Amino acid sequence: MFSYRHAFHAGNHADVLKHMTLLACLRHLTQKDAALHVFDTHAGSGLYKLDSEHARKSGESLDGVSKLLEKHFLAQNQPSVHMKSAPDATDFDVSAMPAALADYVNLLLQLNPGSRMRVYPGSPFLARSALRPQDRMTLCELHPSDTRNLQKHVNEADPAGAKMQVLQKDGFDTLPKLLPPPPTDARGSRRALVLMDPSYELKTDYARALEAIATSLKKFPTGCYVLWYPIIARPEAHGLPRKLKTLCTQSAKPWVHATLNVGRAEKAQPQERGTSLSASGMWVINPPHTLAASLREALPVVQTLLAQGRGAAWEVSAAG
Ligand code: SAM
Repeated sequence: MFSYRHAFHAGNHADVLKHMTLLACLRHLTQKDAALHVFDTHAGSGLYKLDSEHARKSGESLDGVSKLLEKHFLAQNQPSVHMKSAPDATDFDVSAMPAALADYVNLLLQLNPGSRMRVYPGSPFLARSALRPQDRMTLCELHPSDTRNLQKHVNEADPAGAKMQVLQKDGFDTLPKLLPPPPTDARGSRRALVLMDPSYELKTDYARALEAIATSLKKFPTGCYVLWYPIIARPEAHGLPRKLKTLCTQSAKPWVHATLNVGRAEKAQPQERGTSLSASGMWVINPPHTLAASLREALPVVQTLLAQGRGAAWEVSAAG
């Protein structure tokens, strides 16, 4: 069985990039009345307690969401238990933030009304917050404990089970079988967003992600496909965006590619930092036409807030 558990990583800088991008896509796609189906192929357990043993042990959210929001919690007069430093709280102004970042930050603050950051929404609940009564979600997760936790959180949030369906299934294999999504109106319109967020614990995940997206695109060419990947020194990780670009070119699909690198503190030892991952990327096929501009506005601010040292950078490229 896999050893990856997202509870150790929830709210880190990769989640910030991933979830801000996901939310920006969903906001755009839910502007039309027609229903939207969201497929989350690697859902995790849905909600994470940042004061849990897992989260405290890794401390990854300290360099992610907790850092993003620490000035807000400082301004509440009771500094977050997660804070490492004590910055000046006076310049925390969500209304001055770029729209995509402000939207994400507001959502986190709604979930954490108290004096500290306690709960972090994983992709299922982040997406759910953007959905309307007519929209639906299908969530795949393979790990038995995470599936159990996800189902528990879904039962609490959606007791009738009308909105969110949990499947303990392999997300790569299952996604193409579920596409195209069911029609959502009398005219037979079908609209869907797919989030694919593998753990990449197995190096075959890179090829499986590409293959699942290529097969799904053939079955449902108009879907919005959102893929997260780590930027690490591994040929499969370097090759993935290149192969996705080829796929998009061959199938004449527009795309957006966004990366965030938080850099490295001069003297940081990986074991002291909680994570050795300093950069990750998002590849979006059939993106909302506003996405590239929104991310170009938001990522410089995110980079400034989360930078840990040398190498911090962001990039957004797009075509189509
Ligand atoms: N998407 C979640 C979020 O943003 O909150 C985090 C997902 S985490 C990065 C990856 C998840 O995929 C883990 O919970 C892991 O157990 C699960 N997983 C691993 N291989 C899988 C597979 N083939 N199909 C479905 N889930 C899988």
